[in-house]
Amino acid sequence: MPLPRLLVLSLGGTITMTGSGPGGIQPKLGAADLVATVPALAGIAEIEARSPFRVGSSSLSIENVATVAGEIRAGFNEGFDAAIVIQGTDTIEETAFALDLLVDDERPVVVIGAMRGAEAPGADGPANLYAAALVATSAEARGLGTLVVLNDEIHAARFVRKAHTALTSTFVSPFLGPLGLVVEGRARFLVRVAPTPKLALPADAALPPVALLKFAMGDDGRLARALPALGFKGAVLEGMGAGHVPGTVAELAGELAAAMPVVLASRTLGGPVFTRTYGYPGSEIDLVSRGLIPAGFLQGPKARLLLTFALAAGLDSAGVGQAFAPYQ
Ligand code: ASP
Repeated sequence: MPLPRLLVLSLGGTITMTGSGPGGIQPKLGAADLVATVPALAGIAEIEARSPFRVGSSSLSIENVATVAGEIRAGFNEGFDAAIVIQGTDTIEETAFALDLLVDDERPVVVIGAMRGAEAPGADGPANLYAAALVATSAEARGLGTLVVLNDEIHAARFVRKAHTALTSTFVSPFLGPLGLVVEGRARFLVRVAPTPKLALPADAALPPVALLKFAMGDDGRLARALPALGFKGAVLEGMGAGHVPGTVAELAGELAAAMPVVLASRTLGGPVFTRTYGYPGSEIDLVSRGLIPAGFLQGPKARLLLTFALAAGLDSAGVGQAFAPYQ
């Protein structure tokens, strides 16, 4: 039996970082270097290692991730059986969700990183890469879309969040937990999620700028008011609780929604944005009646990605509403 063919793409991140002294660690290693640190991979898959980017993940753009999605789609057309994307943990949840939206294929895509630099004692990168290869080549991972694997836990792209600045257990799917675990050299799935609806972008589609605004006590709306003049084509408002903003900002939020698609997310850790409970000024009923689109279970950064791609696909406000419907 030939080994499965695995495409490994490295974008940078702590997992690729080396260095010492006051200058700090920097992304130096490529995908082939990382693969070489795990000899056991040779028994799992036939690997092609590529390194399209070498940056801290806060410097990755949505365009970069769309490029990676294209490379994975092309790789699947070439006959690869699965793909692993290696990058910094700071934005893993965004890359994973973007790939989940943009790669329409049964074959697994697994995104990984590490919390400790490549030269740190107890570096977690090799273990995470090994676990990712086991997940990516497992038959049970097929049809689950893009997964995130760190700390031997398997998370669904749409739920996973980075929850701690330092711990190797930083990735959580709040109030849900991981889909599965890697134990004794085997990926074991406990739960399955329905596939994320995919979005097909026209070739070379321009990605419109979409703002993400988190609301805090006493916000007077001046940032929200500035968005149209700044050239934004859409906005995600991360409201308080179940999707609330100060009552004094409600009218402005409605004016913004008349100017561009505006999605209402929640700044809480979990749960859907409400649509039919609270009726005071600035509540979710008020905001939805003014044209804001509820983000459902999607957290702000992921709602921003979905809105960006929906606008790039040419959807109007009604179409954007439909794109968010599966997450309610
Ligand atoms: N700052 C790093 C990055 O996101 C953190 C990491 O990789 O864990 O690139």
